[in-house]
Amino acid sequence: MGRTAGVEHAAQGRAHMDARMAVRLRRFYMALASYALWTVIALIGWAGGLIAMPVWLMLAMLSGVMLSNAWFWYMLRSGRSLSYADPSMTKAQVTLGLFWILVVIGASHVDRSLMMVVYIVIMLFGIFRLDRDDFLKLTALALAGYVVVVAADVVIRDVPIDLFTEGVRFLVLASCLLWCTFFGSHVAQLRAALRRQNEALQEHVKDAQRIADRDHLTSAYNRRYIMKALEAERARSERRHAPFSIIIFDLDHFKSINDQHGHVTGDRVLTRFAQVARRELRAVDVISPGRRRHAFGRFGGEEFIALLPETGLEGARHCAERMQEVMAQERFENGITVTFSAGIAVYRYGETIEQTLSRADDALYRAKHAGRNRVFEEKPTSKPGKVVRLVQRD
Ligand code: GH3
Ligand code: MG
Ligand code: MG
Repeated sequence: MGRTAGVEHAAQGRAHMDARMAVRLRRFYMALASYALWTVIALIGWAGGLIAMPVWLMLAMLSGVMLSNAWFWYMLRSGRSLSYADPSMTKAQVTLGLFWILVVIGASHVDRSLMMVVYIVIMLFGIFRLDRDDFLKLTALALAGYVVVVAADVVIRDVPIDLFTEGVRFLVLASCLLWCTFFGSHVAQLRAALRRQNEALQEHVKDAQRIADRDHLTSAYNRRYIMKALEAERARSERRHAPFSIIIFDLDHFKSINDQHGHVTGDRVLTRFAQVARRELRAVDVISPGRRRHAFGRFGGEEFIALLPETGLEGARHCAERMQEVMAQERFENGITVTFSAGIAVYRYGETIEQTLSRADDALYRAKHAGRNRVFEEKPTSKPGKVVRLVQRD
């Protein structure tokens, strides 16, 4: 059962991963659409002389945009980016976006004020992923790049500038980028709080699940869980023709333990019995690696049940007899000795769980009548062809 849960968990993990990959790709396509739009606008501006740039540089820039995006797409799509600290590669994409603005500003005589809006849009792209430090670094990078490019323009190309206008432009850019940083940090905090709440909720759900599956007195599985497990095992057995057995244990003369020592002591004996039985079954699991794990539950009152996957009658009998020996040696409080009677049945292909349980119950009944402290198997079937063929591994 542990393994089934593990497989389910892995499948959930994969689905979760696929969903995250889909989100990353969707964001990337958004960026791609923006690139396409701006390319068209840039080409119009270029054709109209607003962006003065030699043809070779325009072609080089367009190729650079296309190649870098093809690379991002490949990394995201192939799952190679998963090995990165940021699998969405947001920081790299934003950094490159900022770089292309600098190329446009540096290589053309475009009106720099026009580019301010583009800066903000590129920074906003990082809003769902980046934190305050990332935004601060990108802001510093963008401002430093801007200053260097403008200074280079003045020094290399000797373009005259109006210091006051440039100063105001710089301040506008700096304040816009800092606003993005502030806004981005706020969103990052909200995201972190949401993630924490989500994790706490998942823990609560796990706890609730565990409580719902367990018997409150003994902490063994409860009847509800065992019935679910039996149905799951039945479905598995039908699919794979793998046998499984059940053992029903009923403590002998338990009423007199209650009568002589009190109900509270009776409770503790039940708890101890369940503990020891679970420990023994776990020990069997440990020495049979690769095999599906046994499950042990309280069926009600002083009646317990063990589900033994991949086990035939003989294996189940060994198990029950071993449990008898262990319980005989176990020291319960007040010198109480505990014996049980047990009925064993193996699932027969095509039948319902109730039918299997009923045969185990019948065997238990016969064990009681034969004098208690005995392990009885179900009666052999009158239709031998119906028994699941066993690969005996016990
Ligand atoms: P037998 O050998 O025929 O099984 O005899 P028995 O006394 O064990 O069986 P019986 O069905 O007559 O009595 C079961 C007793 O188990 C009666 C009930 O009070 C007690 N019991 C059931 N649930 C609990 C529980 O949660 N705690 C305690 N202390 N006793 C319980
Ligand atoms: Mg009983
Ligand atoms: Mg009993």
